[in-house]
Amino acid sequence: MAKQIKVSLIGNPNTGKTSVFNLLTGLNQQVGNYPGITVQKKEGICKLSRGVKAHILDLPGTYSLNASSLDENVVIELLLNKKDKDFPDVAVVVSDVENLKRNLLLFTQIKDLEIPTILVINMADRMKRTGITLDVPLLEKELNTKIALISARKNEGIDELKQLIESYGTLSSEPCVDALTFAPDYFERLKKAFPKQSLYKLWLVITQDVNFRKIDKQELDITPDFQIKSESELKRFQQKETIKRYQFINNVLKKGLFIDEKAATGVRARLDRILTHKVWGYAIFFAILLLIFQAIYDWSSYPMDLIDEGFAWLSEVTKSVLPAGPFVDLITDGIIPGLGGIVIFIPQIAFLFLFISILEESGYMSRVVFLMDRVMRKFGLSGKSVVPLISGTACAIPAVMATRNIENWKERLITILVVPFTTCSARLPVYLIIIALVIPDEKIGWIFSYQSLTLMLLYFIGFLAAVGASWILNKTLNIKSKSYFVIEMPGYKVPMFKNVAINVIEKTKAFVFGAGKIILAISIILWVLASFGPNEKFSKAEEIVSTAHTNLTGEELETEIASYKLEHSFIGYAGKAIEPIVAPLGYDWKIGIGIISSFAAREVFVGTLATIYSVGSDEEETIKNRMAAEVDAKGLPLFNLASGISLLLFYAFAMQCMSTLAIVKRETNGWKWPLMQLVFMSLLAYSTALIAYQILK
Ligand code: GDP
Ligand code: MG
Repeated sequence: MAKQIKVSLIGNPNTGKTSVFNLLTGLNQQVGNYPGITVQKKEGICKLSRGVKAHILDLPGTYSLNASSLDENVVIELLLNKKDKDFPDVAVVVSDVENLKRNLLLFTQIKDLEIPTILVINMADRMKRTGITLDVPLLEKELNTKIALISARKNEGIDELKQLIESYGTLSSEPCVDALTFAPDYFERLKKAFPKQSLYKLWLVITQDVNFRKIDKQELDITPDFQIKSESELKRFQQKETIKRYQFINNVLKKGLFIDEKAATGVRARLDRILTHKVWGYAIFFAILLLIFQAIYDWSSYPMDLIDEGFAWLSEVTKSVLPAGPFVDLITDGIIPGLGGIVIFIPQIAFLFLFISILEESGYMSRVVFLMDRVMRKFGLSGKSVVPLISGTACAIPAVMATRNIENWKERLITILVVPFTTCSARLPVYLIIIALVIPDEKIGWIFSYQSLTLMLLYFIGFLAAVGASWILNKTLNIKSKSYFVIEMPGYKVPMFKNVAINVIEKTKAFVFGAGKIILAISIILWVLASFGPNEKFSKAEEIVSTAHTNLTGEELETEIASYKLEHSFIGYAGKAIEPIVAPLGYDWKIGIGIISSFAAREVFVGTLATIYSVGSDEEETIKNRMAAEVDAKGLPLFNLASGISLLLFYAFAMQCMSTLAIVKRETNGWKWPLMQLVFMSLLAYSTALIAYQILK
């Protein structure tokens, strides 16, 4: 087998690493986590020429090798650890032609590590508009590197980049600037003590607060006499290093980069002024949100109806083709409706991610972060909390992971604790079905319907709960930590189709397979519990019912028997057992079953109801119609405004997700915070649902 060239893509956030990665690897990529921590790891394979392949690693965005977040630690740990299986044969530093000066800081540091390095200058398509010209040969000479001037957007220059990667053996691995000159005596001693090591590498080991366990100790065992005496001295040294690097970069760019000021238009500045305006900024953001929810609601209803009918049809066909028996029942009444309960929400989740990735890709999301920082500060959050909170609309798990970019521990903890309040995609199925049942399908004016407004209101409530809880936590948590805010303002761009598509596919897949396993398992368990009973009332249901209702015949009798059976099955008894607890909220024992089973994961609720109701009926009705037909003891619809709103609020606030609990435990290093979260959210859910039902009924 041919050797694979190991390539690491390194660079500041938003320089286009992931776009380059997508171009190189296509769908030939894998997303996982770095071992032991929850920073996302993307790797893929790229074919360079016949028999030569590259293994590409898309590293997290990094401003410099002075680590200030966990994402940055990952990069440093990898680059210092030659023994790591991902240690690069060639480091590809991706930079953005519009921010070359800042991007080159990281580049000069990478060069100091003495790894063969290629400099990618991306976004070449922007040069004309911004009036930038480059003297590439001169830059190559001054920076002691090879440069690939590319445009990931226009797919230009990628082949040249591939060629450079393939001939990585000819690249220079010498530094381009001597930045460690500010304490000559100190560095002289260090050099003498470790003659075989790169000085900069030693310097990083001394100064960076990262996990060096993985790095060969003997190679880099720094004795205490090399430690820097004080925190402030360290800061001063680091500043000196940075200044030295910038002096060098300024010099190089003076000779190799030219900007025609007149060509640079003020479009970006003008757009920024509007989009981050104190009034218009918020109004526009709000309008965009409204539009997104409207779209999620309206557009996805067509594929959803198709899927709904498709699964009903599949059940029916399976039933008629296979011989009757408990195993076929399990498939037609347990597994197929359970799976249908997941698949049906793919269109909505895909739409939501389509919009989120378009907003991110266009550069607008950064303006939102900037805009919201003003507001978030008041509640103990950071502008950077907006991204987790918005990602939380997909799923709390990636959202909790996304908090790793918040440097300040208190702000980070608060964000982790409140993220589960935002409306995740798992709540969406529950919301949609209940809204469809209890909110009238009428329009206000000519676009907006009551139903979509209700949905938006629910998202808003979730957000409000998150912000309110932050405010309380900010006042009560006694944690001291300093805070600083750096926000990236990339230029505006038309989103790249490939980036958006890959993101949508990846996230939808994560939802379907992540939730799918649990849902399938629970559907099977539920079917078993609903298809067997503990006593004679279940096994002799036919006899008992036909004796009691001699006037009934045919279908009516069947239905009566089925519902009698369900009531006396295992799950019927379990639901009945909790009925006294949920009755004040307006629920019956069937909803009780739904709530019990969805404690593991909310999205199970709809699948559960689908299983429960189809067990009781032979008709091929969609689950919505079955639910609408449910009546309470007095013969009134069970799902009415009061019980519907109560359920909506219950699901808005309850923390029904084991995976979130697990991830919070991992991110906060213990059970204290996740358990507090669970108790607090459950109490809040129960009490608001109770109040709502008692007022509305
Ligand atoms: P990363 O944060 O470094 O992974 O950067 P991404 O790949 O996510 O890209 C950041 C933004 O830059 C996205 O909006 C991309 O669409 C955009 N982008 C990437 N490459 C190019 C390019 O060559 N030209 C232009 N104009 N935009 C690009
Ligand atoms: Mg990226």
